[in-house]
Amino acid sequence: MQDEVKTTCPYCGVGCGLIISPTRDGWAVGGDPDHPANFGRICSKGAALIDTIMAEEQRDIRLLEPEVDGKPVAWNDAIGETAKRLRDTIEQHGPKSVAFYVSGQLLTEDYYVANKLIKGFIGSPHIDTNSRLCMASTVVGHKRAFGADVVPGCYEDLEIADLVILTGSNLAWCHPVLNQRLRAAKEKHGTKIVVIDPRRTASCDIADLHLPIKPGSDVALFNGLLAWLDQTRNTDLRYVARHVTGYERAVAEARADCPDIETTAEKCGLDTHESADELGSGLGKLETFFNWFAAFERTVTVFSQGVNQSSSGSDKVNSILNCHLATGRVGKPGSGPFSVTGQPNAMGGREVGGLANQLAAHMNPNDPIDVDRVRRFWKSDVLEQGEGYKAVDMFRAIERGEIKAVWIMATNPAVSLPDADRVRLALSRCPLVIVSDVVNDTDTLRHADIKLPAAGWAEKSGTVTNSERRISRQRPFREALGNAKPDWWIMSEVAKAMGFAKAFKYKDPSDIFAEHAALSEFENDGTRAFDIGSWHKARKSAYDSMAPFQWPASRKSQPANGATRLYGDGIFTTSSGRAKMLGITHSGPQSQTSREYPLIANSGRYRDQWHTMTRTGTAARLSAHRPEPLLEIHPTDAALYGLADGGIARIKSPHGTALMRVAITDAQTPGQVFVPMHWNDVFSAAGGIGRLQPPNVDPHSGQPESKHIPVALEPF
Ligand code: SF4
Repeated sequence: MQDEVKTTCPYCGVGCGLIISPTRDGWAVGGDPDHPANFGRICSKGAALIDTIMAEEQRDIRLLEPEVDGKPVAWNDAIGETAKRLRDTIEQHGPKSVAFYVSGQLLTEDYYVANKLIKGFIGSPHIDTNSRLCMASTVVGHKRAFGADVVPGCYEDLEIADLVILTGSNLAWCHPVLNQRLRAAKEKHGTKIVVIDPRRTASCDIADLHLPIKPGSDVALFNGLLAWLDQTRNTDLRYVARHVTGYERAVAEARADCPDIETTAEKCGLDTHESADELGSGLGKLETFFNWFAAFERTVTVFSQGVNQSSSGSDKVNSILNCHLATGRVGKPGSGPFSVTGQPNAMGGREVGGLANQLAAHMNPNDPIDVDRVRRFWKSDVLEQGEGYKAVDMFRAIERGEIKAVWIMATNPAVSLPDADRVRLALSRCPLVIVSDVVNDTDTLRHADIKLPAAGWAEKSGTVTNSERRISRQRPFREALGNAKPDWWIMSEVAKAMGFAKAFKYKDPSDIFAEHAALSEFENDGTRAFDIGSWHKARKSAYDSMAPFQWPASRKSQPANGATRLYGDGIFTTSSGRAKMLGITHSGPQSQTSREYPLIANSGRYRDQWHTMTRTGTAARLSAHRPEPLLEIHPTDAALYGLADGGIARIKSPHGTALMRVAITDAQTPGQVFVPMHWNDVFSAAGGIGRLQPPNVDPHSGQPESKHIPVALEPF
């Protein structure tokens, strides 16, 4: 019998370590007690992983052979045809007529090869990732404040903090193992927990205080907090004087925006008279939150998609970072702002430059020195300075006919992007659509001219980076089904067939990781935060036995296995070494309600489903939690729109319609409804939520506003 295999969960950004044990009938999965992300814990999705891979074996859901124009072909022919059609497109329309749209589901090695091929050898800057929908606003926020896209803290901080604030994060459903760790810490030493969320979520079960702010009013809340901290002398002016710039301006703007608790409450839609008396403070809820933030030195603010997925997501992030910088609470044990990413390898994608506005190893595509450095390292003749199209703009360029060929890997933009019907139309008009995927039917695959069968989670080897900068190995334990191949292999073979053989001679993922590590330390004098140079010449055996480690892990790193926390000494990655507070003014969401569309739909995840359900939708026990998408609505609104509990509602926006079963609940605030993000044409006739969503994006990050969709309702 096979030995146990240590690997990593392919779902959320917690990045739990798993142990796969062979059994008589297949495999069993359990949490890895030695993995620092979860110490043996596991959630319902992780526990059902074997169900999903067995479903792949038993049901006709895998893409098993390459297909060109609807006909199965051998790999040689698929590679040759893909390379030929890409070359023809480039010859006729230039390199910038080609785009890649990739995914936080890819492993870092896959991601690295994708970036190198399109930016460094095809010569197009147009590569973006579905991480654009996940945490692009945080990337902007981190870079503006710290000078680099760095998460300063670690998971342990949630356990040793005295106050944990969850804002725009339903941790209980979206990052369940972190929630388990937080719950255990609260039971042990009484951590205070504040949930900031327009609706009452499962995360409120362990909260001491819930602030149901108006959707999109986060900047007002944190501006109000900053102004109050300054006014009440609860900032750390010694820390600010040594380590921060921009304090005066940030406070002045915060004060002008939200000068007092009453104004803040009004902008956030909170009732100042609603007291937090059950906590024995005698204060209102907002004032209680402010007082707790001031009182607890060890405070962690966890933020996620409720903050990021907004037309002012970057400003929301910086308004949170401002409060932590003003109080000197960054990178200290139990203290700091903490972005939790949605996807298993959103962070790894950031490291290799998977976003249209990033270059490999966290370098800057707009900086000529960085571009020259990467060009020389890759020995590329065509790498150009400048950013590519971000996700929404990329599909607009396809719609306009400017991009003629798109290669989509491990993601389903026909469901997940906003204004999804327009995305489908763009794909239907695109002369060349190449899709690499594990499964044989998605809404996106239905538009593919060339389908390339990718190896799945159980079959692939590589690395992922979780939300605390921890790099872990994903290891295979099953042969790839059919003729599926790893993504890095598929892209390398196409690259060779396009004439770039010398640059893509990888034998296995360890070669790619070593090159990625070497680039991270190439001409890096310590001013670039991302450095894993200690792995630059790692042999395959070392790669195979890699234990999880946090970056940076440079050759000079002490300890050699990476830094638990960064910036605790107050030295940041900016040219001055000081962090920057930004002056920010609250601006509401881009699309507002109207007489025609009087309600706001907020979208999000279910506990037991993942993205567009191509995997979790195959496990019966996961579907038992919520078998169908529910429109959650307050009783007052249900009565107003004639909707009965259990009935079907038609949801309309200016962009499309969807049908969902009605669930009446007082967890919703009147005027707002909640809809899940997962369902699509393959799994339901109801239609996905992407169809309803306007293509509004944050001007800095390009991240779509998925949490604020004006809609109308009627009984169906
Ligand atoms: Fe997987 Fe996330 Fe659950 Fe951990 S918490 S087992 S990474 S889905």
